[in-house]
Amino acid sequence: MPTFQTSPGMRDILPPESARWRRLHNIFADTVEAAGYGQVMTPLIEDIGVFTRIGDATDVVTKEMYDFHDKGDRHVSLRPELTASVCRAFAEHRPITPWKVWYAGPNFRYEKPQRGRFRQFDQVGVEVLGVDDADLDVEVIALAWEFYRALGLQQVNLIVNSLGEPEDRQAYVDALRSHFEAVGDGLTEQSRVTLAKNPLRVLDSKREPDAEHIASAPTIADFHSAEAAAHFAKVQAGLDALGIPFTVEPKLVRGLDYYRRTIFEFQGLTLDSAQNALGGGGRYDGLVEALGGPATAGIGFALGVDRTLLACDDEGVFESAPRVLDAFVVDVTGGAAAVELTAELRSAGLAADRGFENRSMKAQMKLANRSGATHAVIIGADELADGTAIVKPMSRDAGDQQTIPRSDVVAHLQQKTER
Ligand code: AMP
Repeated sequence: MPTFQTSPGMRDILPPESARWRRLHNIFADTVEAAGYGQVMTPLIEDIGVFTRIGDATDVVTKEMYDFHDKGDRHVSLRPELTASVCRAFAEHRPITPWKVWYAGPNFRYEKPQRGRFRQFDQVGVEVLGVDDADLDVEVIALAWEFYRALGLQQVNLIVNSLGEPEDRQAYVDALRSHFEAVGDGLTEQSRVTLAKNPLRVLDSKREPDAEHIASAPTIADFHSAEAAAHFAKVQAGLDALGIPFTVEPKLVRGLDYYRRTIFEFQGLTLDSAQNALGGGGRYDGLVEALGGPATAGIGFALGVDRTLLACDDEGVFESAPRVLDAFVVDVTGGAAAVELTAELRSAGLAADRGFENRSMKAQMKLANRSGATHAVIIGADELADGTAIVKPMSRDAGDQQTIPRSDVVAHLQQKTER
């Protein structure tokens, strides 16, 4: 028989680890819903054009898409990110602005798998469409910050930059091109390829020979218009007012070609530098328009769940803690009593599991132990005959076992567990 494993870069997430994922999603949802964001759910598959609009100078679009022709011969792709899908949804439905939404879910990129880099990876994020105000940039950054705090992460660096207005950015791109062209063969071959497509992205190179040329490159701040500089100053003042520490990183750029003004990234200080981006985002213009909608200001962020959890592991915070069962029903009289009692416990809001296959007392008690339940509820032949059950606390210091009427078991456990 053939055996199968997950594809490279894809993983199974098993319990109890999966419970941690759900808790993370819940914490994120609570954080952003409390700020007026509603959940948007878009399909995993979109027309390839939705993603090629992100920009053809990014590896995400040129090399890493899971694209294929469906049975109707439509050229489609699994989504590599969610901003483009959200903008497509906005252009399609034209909701009233400001449109404040959040999302959570998997994305797909055909990358080289390594620690913190997968081919299917999960993100949580927000997007706001229709508001052009620096205070919103502050709100959006603060939400991500608050989320990391809620998880218990401490070793997170926030870096910010402004790409200026589109004209500032264009002037900067021209200056960068001249700078890097003058360097010629001093740049790595990959960076020379990038230079031909998008000089900004050369700044992203982590290759050693490029470092000195990046360090001596012009910085965007020298190209900021008065308006862009004022916007950026307001963002910084807002972060200061909220006590959120940050560093201005003048060489920070981001993948999407549409970014303008504020961009930001969160770095996990415990992670290797090549994979230390926990998440990031920024302001973008033109994406909704490129997807057939009206000209609309946008800002958002996406945070990588996989990497965030690796950072939690490194810091020893936000550990997996599955819900503890209140009761494990052990019925050695055939199972009919367990069917009823387990259902009763569950409908009273208690967490309950049971043994199956009418296994021996010893075998079922072993299961009860392994389940981590705080109590075993035992029904043997005597209890079945008298309509009673034995309630046995599973930890030694939690008192002695008691035999009580079956009809009192729910109330008894509710009292013990304060549910
Ligand atoms: P991006 O959409 O490229 O700005 O990525 C935002 C965040 O998603 C990154 O900072 C990572 O935390 C996460 N991320 C991106 N690509 C991957 C990947 N291949 N595997 C795991 N996480 C990823």
